[in-house]
Amino acid sequence: MYNNKYNLGFFPTPLHKLNNLSKIYSDYTLFIKRDDQTGLASGGNKTRKLEYLIKQALDNNYDAVFTTGAQQSNHCRQTAAACAQAGIECHIVVRGKEPKTYQGNLLLSHLLGAKIHFTNDNRKEIDFNEFTSKLEKNKKPFIIPIGGSNSVGALGFVDAIKELKLQLTSQDIHIDYLFFASSSGGTQAGIMLGLELADLNIELIPIKIDKDEPERQGVELEEAIIEIMNEGKKLLNIEKQYTLKDIPLNKEYNEADYGVLTSNEISAINELALNEGILLDPVYTGRAFYGMLDCLKKKKIKQNSNILFWHTGGLPALFEHAEGLRK
Ligand SMILES: *Cc1c(COP(=O)(O)O)cnc(C)c1O
Repeated sequence: MYNNKYNLGFFPTPLHKLNNLSKIYSDYTLFIKRDDQTGLASGGNKTRKLEYLIKQALDNNYDAVFTTGAQQSNHCRQTAAACAQAGIECHIVVRGKEPKTYQGNLLLSHLLGAKIHFTNDNRKEIDFNEFTSKLEKNKKPFIIPIGGSNSVGALGFVDAIKELKLQLTSQDIHIDYLFFASSSGGTQAGIMLGLELADLNIELIPIKIDKDEPERQGVELEEAIIEIMNEGKKLLNIEKQYTLKDIPLNKEYNEADYGVLTSNEISAINELALNEGILLDPVYTGRAFYGMLDCLKKKKIKQNSNILFWHTGGLPALFEHAEGLRK
């Protein structure tokens, strides 16, 4: 197990009440955990995973990192920043064609020194061998999966739950429900293992971001989460067995495809910005926050409960959607 992390962010991230929204949704008290403030080149949840992943790369003498994602990947941007700090060459493989103008996360990844490779087609599975074989023979490439979601990366969120527990104790807060965006599964796997170890009883309502793939009957993310948890259990000496039915996942807000901005995300971004002065992102937190507000409006969860939204970052992607967000 990797006990030592490579320090990349500022922790603990703030935990605070949303005073104005708690007045508007008066049946509930709302709190927010600010992982948009992790401090790594505009922050986000990948910072926590990368502290473990970069340490693993350095300890094993890897000198080039390869990772992948969408053009507006927050993960790729934070990986580029982490590599700059750690002095490792960074390659990111992004889907699609090179745009004329770099914007949002893509621009930041470029500024942070990542070598950006475009796949020029829409394949989701990327052939890393193709790219790594082009590297100089003397480079030892370390491959970070999409979203940094493997058992080592998930350890960052096991720590995050320890961090949360200390904050809840010192601020004397009890949380009943935790909402967050779930996409590649590492955050959720880490949170679930963290809750097990911390012996915290919080009901999770992870909002699935990506559209279901019908041929997989919509269980592909749960399977990925179980796989990461099963690997993670070994690192953490957890005995508990997990099956698909132990993995909570709300699939009511993922109808639009990944990265497609709808009136839902726009209304959530507006509501948090106008009432609390906090910015969400258009892909993940905008969708998840909309889901949370919808559950509150429809009183789908127990009244008089305390609710935490985990803000996982993503600010730079707003700029890619400048046009849609002005409507
Ligand atoms: C990657 C990301 C998520 C999802 O985290 P996973 O570990 O991939 O499930 C949520 N919010 C933002 C802003 C992200 O960049």
